[in-house]
Amino acid sequence: METFDYVIIGAGSAGSVLANRLSEEPATRVCVLEAGPKDWHPYIHLPAGFIKTFHMKSINWAYQQEPGPWTGGRSIYAPRGKTLGGSSSINGHIYNRGQRQDFDTWAQLGNRGWGYPDVLPYFKRLERRVGEGDETYRGRDGSLTVTTMDWQDPLCEAFMAGAMSLGIPRNPDYNGAIQEGVSYAQRTIQNGLRVSAATAFLHPARKRPNVDVRTHAHVTNIIFEGKRAVGVRYIKGGKGGTPVEVRATKEVILSGGTYNSPQVLQLSGVGSPELLGSLGIEVRHALPGVGEGLQDHYAPRSVARVKNIRTINELRRGLSLWVEALKWATTRRGLLSLSPTMVYCFWHSGETTESSDLQLTFTPASYKEGVQGQLEDEPGMTIASWQQRPESRGYVRIRSADPFAPPIIQTNYLVEELDRRVVVAGMKLARRLLSSSPLAPYYAYEDFPGPKVQSDDEFLAAATERGTTTFHPGCTCRMGPAGAKWAVVDDELRVHGLQGLRVVDASIMPRMISANLNASTLMIADKASDLIRGKTAPEAVRFPVQP
Ligand SMILES: Cc1cc2nc3c(=O)[nH]c(=O)nc-3n(C[C@H](O)[C@H](O)[C@H](O)COP(=O)(O)OP(=O)(O)OC[C@H]3O[C@@H](n4cnc5c(N)ncnc54)[C@H](O)[C@@H]3O)c2cc1C
Repeated sequence: METFDYVIIGAGSAGSVLANRLSEEPATRVCVLEAGPKDWHPYIHLPAGFIKTFHMKSINWAYQQEPGPWTGGRSIYAPRGKTLGGSSSINGHIYNRGQRQDFDTWAQLGNRGWGYPDVLPYFKRLERRVGEGDETYRGRDGSLTVTTMDWQDPLCEAFMAGAMSLGIPRNPDYNGAIQEGVSYAQRTIQNGLRVSAATAFLHPARKRPNVDVRTHAHVTNIIFEGKRAVGVRYIKGGKGGTPVEVRATKEVILSGGTYNSPQVLQLSGVGSPELLGSLGIEVRHALPGVGEGLQDHYAPRSVARVKNIRTINELRRGLSLWVEALKWATTRRGLLSLSPTMVYCFWHSGETTESSDLQLTFTPASYKEGVQGQLEDEPGMTIASWQQRPESRGYVRIRSADPFAPPIIQTNYLVEELDRRVVVAGMKLARRLLSSSPLAPYYAYEDFPGPKVQSDDEFLAAATERGTTTFHPGCTCRMGPAGAKWAVVDDELRVHGLQGLRVVDASIMPRMISANLNASTLMIADKASDLIRGKTAPEAVRFPVQP
């Protein structure tokens, strides 16, 4: 059997950073197993290709969630990257870290070293910020290029003026001292091309002779000797392919993402004994928290029809598209270099709310049925609004012992009353923003939820009818102390009760954060790389004491 020091399962956001950091020492042999293909497809790298990769099954797990009690009987689509770079190769490029209190809460749950002052040095170490930013918060020397949206659009400007007319300040950097306010989006895009975790971290690492990246390697289970993980079994070429085993002398690191990491653990006999027993899987290690606690952001998208100006809906058609293609080819700018969302607005749902609990994004475009993936024909603009820190929790559970069967994904969106209230508040704020006077020259009428919707109950009904995921699932292998029934990993990301096995990806988040998840997942992996190597953490950032 081939032997490595570390075997990493999944070459996504986390796996790519780990492969890079762990292979810095030339004597360390690292194997990375990725179920998907190489990230060669041009749509991955072209920012506007987002709309194509959204449904592209060759590089996307394209999961369907279970209908929930508050999704109007709908099964919500859940794309996930299945290629080098993982979801960072098909995501919406937004760079958003979250708020100080998100990480302080993680620490307060008993996770030492995960407070904001501890994790900020990792955010900085990873990043090459181009543009505005206070050096206390922003990094300039990392591999992940972060730029600000550079497409000046009158509708975006009018939206921001509208926000300011409602008392929402313009914020020069939502990844700086405070998040609240309205700003152009910060993106992982450089010279008109996507910066994925693979392009920033994995591909440079692949040039090293001590790194072996295997694509089309679908991991079926972790191999144990007693309670120690010693290797990994995968099927080369996917379903129907050849079984292969590789050995890890130091550690197996599971970075399969929020849906697939608990799946691989459960398939390996690690999880709830009731679930495993019901599927005829031998229990290797009882750990009831595996797969439980799933959280995500749930976003209804409010849409207004637009007059007196062209929106992206028209620009991506006919001759305009050819002009844009030429512009991208010659200058790397224009429509094809854009992320799907352009302006970010963080605000609170009530006067007494201490920090922004709402995130709203603005795009001078609109989508069929409110789902990103297919633009509408008539001119439109969209505000997606969502609650930043939901309380509702669901689960990921395997449905059979077949490693190729998609897991059961039940997010339980909006089951908690607080979540319903905040989502309704977000939709009402979206209406006020769309009908603000700076947008008046362009605002024709509200298409969704539409003027008939007035009461809170009507807003809620509209939210259940059309809300979707914002693609931020987390928290299915939560980090917490050994005594916590829900905890799967400790604060060094080692699986409780087992040896030689860590989980490192978005699944370890104990609670949802006020952000899109790519930046924090990269941070988790960078911090994990120090923990794995026994390296001293960078000094925690000290902030001046507030008067
Ligand atoms: C459509 C979309 C838009 C998004 N937009 C944004 C955004 O704009 N900004 C942002 O911050 N976040 C965004 N996100 C979320 C963000 O990209 C993810 O949270 C983040 O990439 C998760 O990283 P990860 O390492 O946990 O998992 P992933 O990056 O998903 O990596 C998991 C990897 O493991 C592989 N894998 C899984 N199972 C197996 C197996 N059995 N064997 C072998 N390999 C396996 C997968 O193929 C994948 O490559 C978006 C996500 C999606 C899907």
